[in-house]
Formats: sequence, structure tokens, C-alpha cells
Amino acid sequence: MSQTAIVIGSGPNGLAAAIGLAKAGLEVTVYEKNAVIGGACRSDEIIQKGVINDVGSAVHPMAAASPFFKSLPLSYYGLKWIHSPAVMAHPLDDGTAVSVYKSIEETASNLDVIDNKSYRKLMEPLTNNFQILIEEIMNFPRIPWRHPFIMMNFGLNALLSARGLAELKFKGNRARAFFAGMGAHSIMNMNKAASSASGLMLAAAAHANGWPIPQGGAQKISDALTAYFKALGGKIITETEIVNLADLPDNDVLLADVTPVQLLKMAASKLPDNYKNKVKKYKYGPGVFKIDWLINKPVPWTAKECSNAITVHIGGSMEEIVMAENEVHDGRTPEKPFVFFAQPSLFDTTRTDANQHVVWGYCHVPFNSNIDMTERIESQIERFAPGFKESIIARNIMCPSDLEEDNPNLIGGDISGGSQSFKKLVIPSISYKTPLENVFLCSSSTPPGAGVHGMCGYRAAQAALKHINK
Ligand SMILES: Cc1cc2nc3c(=O)[nH]c(=O)nc-3n(C[C@H](O)[C@H](O)[C@H](O)COP(=O)(O)OP(=O)(O)OC[C@H]3O[C@@H](n4cnc5c(N)ncnc54)[C@H](O)[C@@H]3O)c2cc1C
Repeated sequence: MSQTAIVIGSGPNGLAAAIGLAKAGLEVTVYEKNAVIGGACRSDEIIQKGVINDVGSAVHPMAAASPFFKSLPLSYYGLKWIHSPAVMAHPLDDGTAVSVYKSIEETASNLDVIDNKSYRKLMEPLTNNFQILIEEIMNFPRIPWRHPFIMMNFGLNALLSARGLAELKFKGNRARAFFAGMGAHSIMNMNKAASSASGLMLAAAAHANGWPIPQGGAQKISDALTAYFKALGGKIITETEIVNLADLPDNDVLLADVTPVQLLKMAASKLPDNYKNKVKKYKYGPGVFKIDWLINKPVPWTAKECSNAITVHIGGSMEEIVMAENEVHDGRTPEKPFVFFAQPSLFDTTRTDANQHVVWGYCHVPFNSNIDMTERIESQIERFAPGFKESIIARNIMCPSDLEEDNPNLIGGDISGGSQSFKKLVIPSISYKTPLENVFLCSSSTPPGAGVHGMCGYRAAQAALKHINK
């Protein structure tokens, strides 16, 4: 008889773990609290029937680059990537925008002339070695590195703060603003060491692979993973929240796509005190305030280049972006937040009918903040696209508590499964194996961390298989 496995949660990591176990021949059942699978990689008709909005993730550089997803037949199961002519754009107050193109040369040429050479010098080695870098980082901390020189070259810049890197490498305001926007993805204080790492990787991903969206919405990634999992014989039971591990049927191994505090709730009486204490000290990061809009025309950007990109970073200069992000880390609410913005229906006509557009945006806010950011976010967009506000037909707002209610992993609105820091990047505080026999964590709280790439789930499944087969 084959061994049985249970996976709690059907986010990208839960599904990746389930596939890893099913491929190894286990009988796998996934339990999901929500009616629809996918966790924070889901789409829904939140605003209006027939209008597809992404509930969580919208833009997928890491999914497109993921070594595990690349090994799966996801295109056979309906996943189709869409790229925009420019990868992303960053509008400025002078009415222009910095555009990032697949070509490093073309990108460098729309920075201030003084920074053209520095940009090429910084990005060429990272882009040329992107596949190696992503393999190393997605398997981090795997020691020894297979490509130590490439990693050391990356590390020299990645260990800098986002602000430090922007100021050290660039003299002009355009490159500095653009790199600050990239650095904001770290969800770290932008003066802290290693807050440049995720921005550097995202910039390299832009040149190497692009930042695509799935045709039909983020749900299509989860649907393709599910279809493949089912083809391997896997089962999914939705609308079933696991409250206590003891309620589950007998199994040989259990993987939980939840954050550490949730595991504590599900198994408190069974966990040893030292693990309980470690989890109690586990820190969650800032929250997110998210808005989906339905608008009656494309966003009227002052800088027309912005209409060529799915992703737009809205926040102006480096100084403003650093101030907004650092305020959040100090527990304050920025007056002018940095807005992560996407306009998928400009490039994917399946999202809504031709007379309307769906757009998506969020900003960081302090953990569990209940301050309504709608006016501040929309004013930031209006600043670079006068007429945006009057184009709004309808909107759906999700503050941190709404996000957590929809998906219990988003504690206090934290979309990363835990706070980010230099220490945590180097020595992850939570590993796959828990002290409970054959129980593993597989969510984005485990290495290599947040983003839709499934590598936490894949690696947790490998660790679990090694453990039960030893
Ligand atoms: C607003 C937002 C925007 C984002 N933008 C991007 C982006 O553009 N690109 C990108 O790459 N990443 C983005 N992310 C991050 C990305 O979505 C997450 O890192 C990723 O989804 C984490 O996957 P996961 O499987 O670890 O957890 P999740 O996706 O959170 O899935 C966890 C699942 O477990 C279920 N669950 C939890 N507890 C239980 C229980 N007790 N019983 C049963 N089921 C349970 C939940 O309902 C959920 O379905 C975004 C996230 C959010 C919220």
C-alpha cells in the first residue's frame, strides 16, 4: 500500500508540496479552508460578475523563473504568460518615466546619461548569470554554493541597504528613484543591510525573463498546478479549515502551508516548550492595504511610457520612497505611500470587456493597521495620472484584517509570512521540520521565502521524503 500524505492549505507552496509528494508516489490529500484553491495566488470576480481581479499576487517574475515550476508541464494545463513591451515603469514629477525594458542597453539609455555605464556594469553580470543566481537563491542556504564567485559578486551588492546601493552606484535621480522602488519589494527598512537584495534580483529578472502575468489572472497558476496534481492522482478537499491536527485522518506525513503561529494553534498541546517559545518570538512584518479598481478607460498617465508596462511603481523620488517605507517600519502611516500598481487588462483582454479596465494596487502599512489608505493611494496615482479618480467605476478595498480574514496566513496583513531582515535572509529562523513526528511546514515562512514560486513547498516535500524514507 502506498504511503499517505496530507497538505494543509492550497497556496502555491501547498500545491507545490502536494505535487512533490504525489510525484514520489504518495497518496496526497490537500485540505483548504476557502472554497477556491490558490491562497494568495487567486483571482475572483470581487467587483462585478465577468470582471477578473487578482485577490493577492498579480505580477509573477518569480513564478516564471521558479526552477520547480519550470520543471512542471504548466503550459499544458493552461498557463500562458503575457509580457508587456516595457517590463515596468516608474513615473516622475517632471512628466517623464523611467522604463525598464528587457534590454539592459535600452533601459540604461533612459536613465540620466551619467548613470548609463554604471547601470550596465551593475546589471550585466547579474542578468547573464540569472539562471545560476536564481537556482542558488531559491536553494539558499545550501552550502557550499555551486557557484561561489557568482554568489559573492551578487552578495557584495546585495548586502548593501537599498538606499546605500542607489546612492553608491548612481548619481542621477532617475536611477536612484527606480532602484528605491525595486528596493521597496524587500519590505525592509531601506537603510538596513541587505534591503537591496530582492530589488537586485527583481531587476535582473526583468532583463532575463520579464515580469509576466498569467492570461486570465493569477488563478490560472493555481489552476494549472491543481490540474497537474489531480493528474498525478491527488485529491483536494475545499471549505475545510483544519483547527486541530488531531482532527485529521491518519497519515504518514503532514505538510502545513501555514505560518508558525497557526501551527502553534493547531498543535499547541503537542509541541515542546522550546519550540513554542521560538514561535512566540517569531515576528510578523508590516501589513498591506490593497485596492482593486474597475475603471472606464486606460489609466491617463502623464508619462505615456507608463502605458507600455504591466507594472508601475508609484512614489516619485528615492527620498520620498525611502521615507514612506521607513515610516511604515517605524509604525507610522505614510501620507504619500509607495504604491505597487498593475494594469493587467491593458495587455490581457480576458479580464474584462473592452470598455473597462481592471487595475490593482497596494501599499505597505504598519502591522494590522486599520487606517483607510484609499484616498492616499488614489492621490498618489492621480499625481502621475490626472483624471484617474474620475475614471473609477467601482473599487474593492482590503485592509490588513480583511486580508487575514480571507486567508489566515496573512497575519496582520503581512504578505510575506514573517518580517524580513538581514539575519533572517542569512539564517532562516524557521525550517521545514517541526518537532512533531513527520510534520513539516511548507509555507513562505520557510526558505526561500515570499513570492509565488512554490520553492518552499517543493523543498519542504524533499525534506519530508528524505525523512520518511530514511
Ligand atoms: C495582496 C498581495 C499581493 C501580492 N503580490 C505578489 C506579486 O505580485 N507577486 C508575487 O510573486 N507574490 C505576491 N504576493 C505574495 C504571494 O502571494 C505569497 O508569497 C504566496 O502566495 C505564498 O504562498 P503560500 O503557499 O506560502 O501561502 P498562501 O498563498 O497564503 O496560501 C496559504 C493557504 O492555506 C490556507 N490555510 C491556512 N490555514 C488553513 C487551515 N487551518 N486549514 C485549511 N487551509 C488553511 C489558506 O486559506 C490559503 O489558501 C502577494 C500577496 C498578497 C496577499
